[in-house]
Amino acid sequence: MIREPAVAKALDTLDTSACVRLAQDLIRVPSITGEERAVQDLVALMLEEAGLEVDRFDADVSRLKAHPRFPGMEVERHEAILVAGLLGQKGDRSLILNGHVDVVPPGDRQAWHASPWSAHIHAGRLYGRGACDMKAGVAIAIAAAAALKKSGLPLRGRLIVESVVGEEDGGIGSFAMAERGYRAEAAYVLEPTRLRLIPAQAGALTFRLRIRGRAAHASVRYEGVSAIDKYELVEARLRQLERSLNAHPHPLFRHYPIAYALSIGRMRAGSWSATVPDELECEGRLGVPVGMASADARKELAAAIADAAQRDPWLAEHPPQIEWFGGQFDAVEVDPEHAAFTALQAAHADEFGLAPELEGAPYGSDMRLLVHEANTPAVLYGPGDIRQAHSADEWIAVDEIVQAARVVTAAAARYLAA
Ligand SMILES: [Zn+2]
Repeated sequence: MIREPAVAKALDTLDTSACVRLAQDLIRVPSITGEERAVQDLVALMLEEAGLEVDRFDADVSRLKAHPRFPGMEVERHEAILVAGLLGQKGDRSLILNGHVDVVPPGDRQAWHASPWSAHIHAGRLYGRGACDMKAGVAIAIAAAAALKKSGLPLRGRLIVESVVGEEDGGIGSFAMAERGYRAEAAYVLEPTRLRLIPAQAGALTFRLRIRGRAAHASVRYEGVSAIDKYELVEARLRQLERSLNAHPHPLFRHYPIAYALSIGRMRAGSWSATVPDELECEGRLGVPVGMASADARKELAAAIADAAQRDPWLAEHPPQIEWFGGQFDAVEVDPEHAAFTALQAAHADEFGLAPELEGAPYGSDMRLLVHEANTPAVLYGPGDIRQAHSADEWIAVDEIVQAARVVTAAAARYLAA
């Protein structure tokens, strides 16, 4: 296959085994959301060694939290260390490679066959918390930048590697990057997509409901009002809302059983087993259809709950309270025909002999922050399967890291080389 000389040159200088080692080194530094300082120090070092100009900064958490468009946060934090690596000068083109270094907790240690921070390779799989989501992606961004630097190719503009924190609980890191002024003509967010190209992403809004009842001794439960019984009325109406939000999913979401899921994840009710519960509190996430504003999705949920309440005399007098907290992920969509994204599709086709599949993602990510806060059209593309993310014995195929590194490097060269 004949490749453009710039692409061939960049691929020649790409060191894929070094890329896999970078991923291992990153996994070996635990970085559960909120505790990312050590791993960010390592990223800064790696970028320096790659020959990039490094901007390591401590974002002002309290100022960001007070921002009207702050994307939310579920883990209390006192610091947010961000690292950007810069290559080249401003020009008519520019590209961001974005990845997050925070990981979710490993959970039950007994469910793991080795330490979650071992980063060992067995039978072609690299294991460890963050292997898939998404330290392999961060390693690829660094390796691709290193290859472009080493190739000496003249660039039409800047390549920016963004290593962010706090993605798992809202996106404070990518928000801080946008606030600092980092933007580009386009961005690749290297999340695990099984090497599919994701130009559309559903939103996800975290909420809390409080439902009141009236306490009574369980032996005369008919004299009380069970908050659990009242929840069931609300729940039925929420299912109906989910069906209506999913009536006409975006074409890239049609294959999902439920494109925009509404799910309750936590619940607490009552205070004594022999007392009718006088309160119920639950938390869940509302999926936001592509094309719908988050504000409208919030209104739909409020209307559904008001509707359920109005059909029940007790709830009509004691309407459930809704609170929006934690991660607030807007839905987002970009044009896959943007030159940076056709470059990615061409690079993928060079590597695999066929174009990447386009797919919609039913979960939220930093993609919407790049698009909405940094004015930077972004897609998701990366190695690994979201099913392995957040699980015990999280792993990623080494071959897939190598393939993705080649595609991302070739795409960046194709798009940025002068
Ligand atoms: Zn992720």
